[in-house]
Amino acid sequence: MPDHVTQKAAPAGGNGKGDSRCAQDALPAEALVTGTPPPAPQPTASFGADDSEFVHQELDLAGRTVYIPHMPWGGSVLFAACFRSIGINGRVVPMGDSVTLELGGKYTSGEECYPQRIVTGDFMKLLEVEKIDRDKIAFLLPTANGPCRFGQYAGLQRQILDEQGYPDIPMVSLSSADGYRGIGRHAPQLIRTAWRAIVCSDILMKLLLKTRPYEVKAGQADAAYLRGIHLCESIFELPLTNKDRMAELTAALVRIRDAFRAVPLRQENRPLIGVVGEIFTRLNSFANQEVIRHLEAAGAECWLAGVAEWVWYTNEEQFRRLREERRRASKTWLRAVLTKQVMERDERALYECFQEDFHGYEEPHVPHLLKLAKPYLPAAGCGGEMVLSTGGAIHFYELGWDGIADISPFSCMNAIITEAVYPKVSREHDGFPIRMFYFDGTQGDLDRDVEIFLELARTYQRRKKIPRQM
Ligand code: SF4
Repeated sequence: MPDHVTQKAAPAGGNGKGDSRCAQDALPAEALVTGTPPPAPQPTASFGADDSEFVHQELDLAGRTVYIPHMPWGGSVLFAACFRSIGINGRVVPMGDSVTLELGGKYTSGEECYPQRIVTGDFMKLLEVEKIDRDKIAFLLPTANGPCRFGQYAGLQRQILDEQGYPDIPMVSLSSADGYRGIGRHAPQLIRTAWRAIVCSDILMKLLLKTRPYEVKAGQADAAYLRGIHLCESIFELPLTNKDRMAELTAALVRIRDAFRAVPLRQENRPLIGVVGEIFTRLNSFANQEVIRHLEAAGAECWLAGVAEWVWYTNEEQFRRLREERRRASKTWLRAVLTKQVMERDERALYECFQEDFHGYEEPHVPHLLKLAKPYLPAAGCGGEMVLSTGGAIHFYELGWDGIADISPFSCMNAIITEAVYPKVSREHDGFPIRMFYFDGTQGDLDRDVEIFLELARTYQRRKKIPRQM
């Protein structure tokens, strides 16, 4: 300390017990000498995923194909078609395989989450194995500020590409923070179409999962699903107006519904399992070793938490933040309200013809899920899949279902927390079976784990107090 600065005695009250006057007294020791009070300390600028410089760059995607990870495969096919509708060539990455894991392991340190290893492996495979021309390729990896490591990964992928000599390959890292500026003037159109694609993908997945376990002839439900995805894809890739696209989609969904209704089924009393967990691993069938097919083969019917739930959750979070910041009278609030209304209208229109088919499978509204999860994980302090999975488990208990499978990557922060609260959730809900299934790319005895879990679910099914709505 310069000897001209006189150290004042520490204010009375002790650490953390003083008032703002104590801080004022403690700071300007130098002001006693110079007569100029030093500037008050300011919070440092926050830096999160949405602030990354490259996320906000205007991208030139002319002549390039944007490759999209599977989340799930059918949803990404539709999302890629949405890109094509605005003149950007979108495609899904090829199916994951051992090369995916090998390359993912090669270019990550081992500390990253398993989903990132798969995404990196799939992207690098396109460059190193498929040898796609670097001038013709771009990668899509969305980003967001959030409670876990997810926000790091778009930046990490950029760094890997730079270090491997591909600084020129664009990373399309959509961020809501800048109104998706990276994709240029078509952004509003793409966002509306992509929301419809998400809803259609969730609908098709639900139809598949409620039909496939009961089909008389193996493969018929999968065939109906594939035909449905390709029919929707053919509509999403056209440059239609919003009104025309909705008319085409609602007509197509009736045809898809009727194709599923035409699949001959056998009557069976299968336990109904809600599948929740970390969004990438539960939706990417390579990441989860096709766990739903294993559950079906062992005698279950499954329902998979879709992507729309996550979108509604991010909307709710936006409203919560704006309320906390006292910005209810702002333009941002008004825009969020209008966006929500448009999204609700689109979703209602797309689900319109399925009321009979989805009776007993009612989609939980996100505010309801947050309320159910609150005694265990209050949304104001906990974020991400952990809240949705916990609320979802209770919602399905209340619908009279028979168990919950939580599909998550090993060492996932969300999963570690849900695993800690699930025993209490189960105890307080009549011993409702909830089982974690962790994945990290190593081979475990999945069938054994599935069998043990389903035995619990069947026992619960026989003694449960809340009957399933049919
Ligand atoms: S949710 Fe889990 S797996 Fe996904 S980024 Fe966060 S910590 Fe990783």
